[in-house]
Amino acid sequence: MFWQRASRCEYSCAGMRRLQTTELGDIRSTYDTVVIGAGPAGCATAACFAARGASVLLIESNPKAARRFAGEWIHPEGARVLNAHGLLEGLESSVEGRGFAVFPNDGLGPIRLDYPGLATGLACEHETLVTHLRRRVAELSQVDYVEGVRGRLAATDAVELSAGGGKTHRVHSRRVVVAAGRSSRGIAEATREDQVSISLMAGLVVTDAHLPFDGYGHVIVGGPGPVLAYRIDQRRIRLCIDVPNAIRRGAHAPEWIWKSFAEVLPAALRPGVREGLSSASLSWASNAFRPRRYQAGSGVALVGDAAGVFHPLTAMGITMSLLDAEALAQAQSLPEYASRRASQSYIPELLSNAIYQAFVRSDPGSEAIRDSIYRTWRSSSAHRSRTMNLLGAASSSRGDFVRAFSRVALRAGAGALLSDPRTVVDLANWLKWPWASLHPQPASVRSRSLSWAAPESWDRSDFFRSRQPFKEKQDAN
Ligand SMILES: Cc1cc2nc3c(=O)[nH]c(=O)nc-3n(C[C@H](O)[C@H](O)[C@H](O)COP(=O)(O)OP(=O)(O)OC[C@H]3O[C@@H](n4cnc5c(N)ncnc54)[C@H](O)[C@@H]3O)c2cc1C
Repeated sequence: MFWQRASRCEYSCAGMRRLQTTELGDIRSTYDTVVIGAGPAGCATAACFAARGASVLLIESNPKAARRFAGEWIHPEGARVLNAHGLLEGLESSVEGRGFAVFPNDGLGPIRLDYPGLATGLACEHETLVTHLRRRVAELSQVDYVEGVRGRLAATDAVELSAGGGKTHRVHSRRVVVAAGRSSRGIAEATREDQVSISLMAGLVVTDAHLPFDGYGHVIVGGPGPVLAYRIDQRRIRLCIDVPNAIRRGAHAPEWIWKSFAEVLPAALRPGVREGLSSASLSWASNAFRPRRYQAGSGVALVGDAAGVFHPLTAMGITMSLLDAEALAQAQSLPEYASRRASQSYIPELLSNAIYQAFVRSDPGSEAIRDSIYRTWRSSSAHRSRTMNLLGAASSSRGDFVRAFSRVALRAGAGALLSDPRTVVDLANWLKWPWASLHPQPASVRSRSLSWAAPESWDRSDFFRSRQPFKEKQDAN
């Protein structure tokens, strides 16, 4: 029977500590907070509300969803939220993250971007991280965690649970939080209509290989799309290989990936990638952009990917999710949360879009911006720190973004005037980002999606850069 009485049950996953789940029969009829979805956002939300004394029901429909290729790099601000709630305690296989190393493939060597003030983040294999978070949260006395149960919004203060077999049950709550990731459609009315598909991403795990900068996320530019590579534990390195939509046909073949990206990979990585690359070793994910919106209807909060998504090159999805959770638990009201997070996430969103497009597009304006970004990073430690503060969500200041972007745009403009004035027209395309960031309070989802607006030629395959010969230089600044 669906609602039979039972006690908290504990079961063991091979070699791991036990996960305490609550049996359906033990679920109460009322909670202070019900959270739908136990990914990073849902687990953090449950922990943040529990820390404030709330009773929480955390519902996960498909625990195996955590096995997919998804987020693994967490910026220092995200690590801070996890540490504040003891959620990282006992996590064995993670690696400290000190910043990024960008490989521009321009012959001048990689550029190291450290987190300011010796702050550190972390990287951890996605399933290991999510399983650990669920275990930690389920141990909290105020949290009841149920698995294999689908949650659906029945009213702003009620959630309908279904566990298969057609039986359903209603739980009432003062606060309902949707943390169901990108699949939140149908749970609460979300802003799906604004979603833009960007690219495919191939995930590859390479064992016993080397990275030039241990502890850094390596952003490797020069292939058809950027590659993000980082260590996820002592033995394994994750590669996230981006295949922009315009060239994705035929791009599933391992041979295509090798031919398209091998030349730009740092030499230390190449043998491991060659050896590890096969159809079976690749996992695929699709990347999209959806501007963030934090409230559905009048009374339901959205956190994490349910609120919005952007390209994972800047590895901000989990950190944004954790900051959402913290802000929601601290807010006096849902509108206060929604407005504060809309304002704080605006700049990370713009930055992520701007950096991705700068690294992928091949129109003269984009090339001028890209070269200017590299030159500015190389020449100014203050600019590197500002970028990392924005990237790691330590700053969401519009002033910082406008200063950083204006400096890059001015430098690019000056170079273009001297070499090819026609590029200046292309550069004007880029001004929409600093312009959009000056918008005092993003009034609508539509205005936020401006940052993804692109010229028609954005869709043409020849718009993307062709492979360039690999030019390696070992010294970073
Ligand atoms: C290829 C790729 C690489 C990425 N790399 C990074 C990275 O390095 N760093 C980073 O920060 N971010 C990265 N991201 C983004 C990151 O994975 C997401 O931002 C993050 O997982 C969002 O967490 P979430 O909890 O909101 O959603 P999810 O992780 O999607 O979790 C949602 C959970 O809700 C459950 N659920 C869904 N519907 C229901 C329902 N009706 N009832 C109950 N449960 C439900 C799902 O089963 C799932 O477990 C990456 C994304 C991709 C695709």
